Amino acid sequence: MIDLHCHSHFSDGALSPSALVQKALDAGIQLLALTDHDTIDGLTDLHAAAHQQAIRVINGIELSVRWKKYDIHILGLNINAYDEQLNALIKRQNECRITRALQISELMKTCGVVDAYEKACVIAGHRRIGRPHFAQILVDEGKAKDMTTAFKRFLVQGRPAYVPTQWINLEEALTTILNAGGDAVIAHPLKYKLTRSKLYKLITDFKTAGGEAIEVISGDMTKLQINEMLGICMRFNLLASSGSDYHSDTASRIKLGRQQPLPLDCIPLWHKWNEGQ
Ligand code: AMP
Ligand code: MN
Ligand code: MN
Ligand code: MN
Repeated sequence: MIDLHCHSHFSDGALSPSALVQKALDAGIQLLALTDHDTIDGLTDLHAAAHQQAIRVINGIELSVRWKKYDIHILGLNINAYDEQLNALIKRQNECRITRALQISELMKTCGVVDAYEKACVIAGHRRIGRPHFAQILVDEGKAKDMTTAFKRFLVQGRPAYVPTQWINLEEALTTILNAGGDAVIAHPLKYKLTRSKLYKLITDFKTAGGEAIEVISGDMTKLQINEMLGICMRFNLLASSGSDYHSDTASRIKLGRQQPLPLDCIPLWHKWNEGQ
């Protein structure tokens, strides 16, 4: 079993990296990548927890990217965590995230929530605040009945607490991941609600920038969606990745490593990592 996309409490997940490794061992996962949003701070603990255990762990990150007017997520897998350019880029993304969080916090006043930034820092336990932390406050303070409603009413484009973010662009994300020795993957391609022609344009731009892989399986998917992703993989000659996008037992519909298997016709990205061993 393989899971190349999950989150720890270093971003918007609930568990520590070592708790994730324990969960992965219990589930029989052999290959696990930690892919926190715009941070690699969890990787040291990940490796420490996996040391001498029956699991291989992979360095990962999920970079937030601005492409046209969309927020797109690009995974960097098997990256060198000590790469200087990567670390500089992460620093800039974190600054972006904090600036955005302060702006969201201001807007949340108009939604009847005060001190949202400070509250979000308490929930997160760090300053890399994401929208889920704000969604949690909205739920806790009775402004929304659940996280999905909090997003829909307040935090997505066109709603009162949405802030467009100056994330890095696609080319920069790709260059940095590739220079850090990693593989770039378009995360959950069907989550952006792009028209098919926009999605194909995104894939073309991604390939032009040196990208090679796409998440054919991400979290909970229908057979129809998996088939479409297989078709896209073939059409654009892409390698395939697979991950649960697990955040916590309550936030995620499927558990760590429990996403469906890759269609047999796909070429798994991780086969690349076995070469020469
Ligand atoms: P951010 O990087 O701060 O913009 O937050 C994005 C994160 O919010 C995603 O990685 C998901 O974990 C979560 N998210 C995005 N959309 C929704 C939604 N509609 N309902 C619940 N969580 C969401
Ligand atoms: Mn997330
Ligand atoms: Mn994502
Ligand atoms: Mn994710």
